[in-house]
Amino acid sequence: MLREARPYYPRLAFALVLGVIAGLGPLAFSNAFPLVIDRVVENPKHPIGLLLLVMAGVFVVNLIANAATYGQSYLTAWSGQRLIASFRVRLFERTMRMPMAEFDRWRPGEFIARFTNDLTLMTDALSVSLPQFFVALVTLVGSIAYMIYVDWLLSLFLFVFAPVVNFVVAMFTRLISASTRRAQERVADLSSNLTEVLQGERIVKAFGREGYETTRFSESNENYFGAFMKSIQLGQTQTPIVSMIITTALLAIMAASVRETIVGRLTSGQVFQYWTLVVLAINPLNRLAAFVGDISKGLVGASRIFEILDLPIEEDDARAIAGGAPIRGALAFNGVTFAYKADGAAVLHDLTATIEAGEIVALVGPSGAGKTTIVNLVPRFYDPRSGTIEIDGRPLVSLPLAELRAAIAIVPQEAMLFSGTIADNIAYGRLDATRAQIAAAAREANAEEFVLELPLGYETPVGERGTRLSGGQRQRISIARAVLRDPRILILDEATSALDSHSERLIEAALDRLLPGRTTLIIAHRLSTIRRANKILYIDGGRVVEMGTHDDLLARGGAYAALHAAQFA
Ligand code: ADP
Repeated sequence: MLREARPYYPRLAFALVLGVIAGLGPLAFSNAFPLVIDRVVENPKHPIGLLLLVMAGVFVVNLIANAATYGQSYLTAWSGQRLIASFRVRLFERTMRMPMAEFDRWRPGEFIARFTNDLTLMTDALSVSLPQFFVALVTLVGSIAYMIYVDWLLSLFLFVFAPVVNFVVAMFTRLISASTRRAQERVADLSSNLTEVLQGERIVKAFGREGYETTRFSESNENYFGAFMKSIQLGQTQTPIVSMIITTALLAIMAASVRETIVGRLTSGQVFQYWTLVVLAINPLNRLAAFVGDISKGLVGASRIFEILDLPIEEDDARAIAGGAPIRGALAFNGVTFAYKADGAAVLHDLTATIEAGEIVALVGPSGAGKTTIVNLVPRFYDPRSGTIEIDGRPLVSLPLAELRAAIAIVPQEAMLFSGTIADNIAYGRLDATRAQIAAAAREANAEEFVLELPLGYETPVGERGTRLSGGQRQRISIARAVLRDPRILILDEATSALDSHSERLIEAALDRLLPGRTTLIIAHRLSTIRRANKILYIDGGRVVEMGTHDDLLARGGAYAALHAAQFA
């Protein structure tokens, strides 16, 4: 964090100086008593001028101290918030650049909890508690130093009690931080539960599970309540305990100061001064424990945020060489074995296949066979455990990720539209596309016709808050996006859900225009698509079981022929 805060160092240094002024300002009050009591009250002449002078002095010092408090809290709040703002973006960027394998391990709600609750804990600690803590500490240290200066003997008590307070605070800090961590984990559960249910709201309704989900949410909520209360309770137990220790110390000091006055080591003015200092020290001392609690909560938030910041990000392989020959799109899988988890069972086993540039390849086979996994390896969402994948005879890892992915477009099973206009969505893979290019892509994808019928045409907002489009329309936007990207390699995950025959025909016509000349991997579910393929790979159990054209494979009478008979014939 210190490294990240570097741009704000000058401001923070200034804030530190102001903090010292703000923290020491109140001590001026204590100086007033020896002057006022010993020199004004006990002086038979009662010099009122001196009283007024002292009052004016204390007033001015406090004015300066309060101005410094304002300046300090403004500067630290500003720097703290700036710092957090930059952390928020860093966190987002790291999340975006996280390797797929890492991303898979996280529930979406976990990210949301870290972006919101954990970041808030960190913000509060950094921009509110820490600056106040600093001022309180200055006041505390200043008044203790001054107490020792006024009467070191009385101050000995401090050295007896301070370690006790210290011990108690340290113990509570550990407990609070452990219970805060548990509470933050429960918040993450809660928001995971929430995101999941919100995404599946239609299913919840359709299966009549509103009550069940509410119960589940309320259990999650109770767990959070319990964990959160525990951490609050710890904080609240700490305050009275610390306060009782301090009270005991005060009583001891009281007895001792009576003795000091009787034996004549201190004047009444000095005793007053001493007690003013004690009172000044108590407030920060009492609050210190709470600050330490807040700061340790902030540290829990910070450590949960750094957990993400410290994760690896996707990077080009050391063997990657930029600016090679343009990608043509020939693919070769050489003995590829792959598992999603390092210690998990393999999903692909010694898979070998070659695909010429411009070939249309249909991947068919039972679900769970590994078709999606195969296409996931091409853009290097994951890397094989052993074996290699080559593109135009070069190992995939020798290409920079950006170059590799620039040559690929994916049309997923469920078209993913982001909030924005239709034009924005089509241009997602090529932000510099002109309006004419976007329109041309939409035309190619057979999308223009319905887009122009929308009230705002290409400027119609879609996505979460926008116009609802039908499945077929979304598919065509998704295809237009791929058209605009003009990829060498196209990955198509065909929708399993049936579209109406009109949409289906439009999509097929669009694909007829899009596919030629590009290497295409289709996870195919429709006979018409399979027929169009130059080559069919029948995948089962993570292996290529059969390979050939539709006619070849039918003639062979093997697994594909059986599938064909069961599904299409
Ligand atoms: P298909 O596309 O042929 O239906 P997949 O490639 O999706 O099959 O899945 C192959 C196997 O890999 C399945 O057993 C599936 O459970 C597993 N799998 C898929 N995705 C993941 C993932 N992200 N993490 C762990 N296992 C996965």
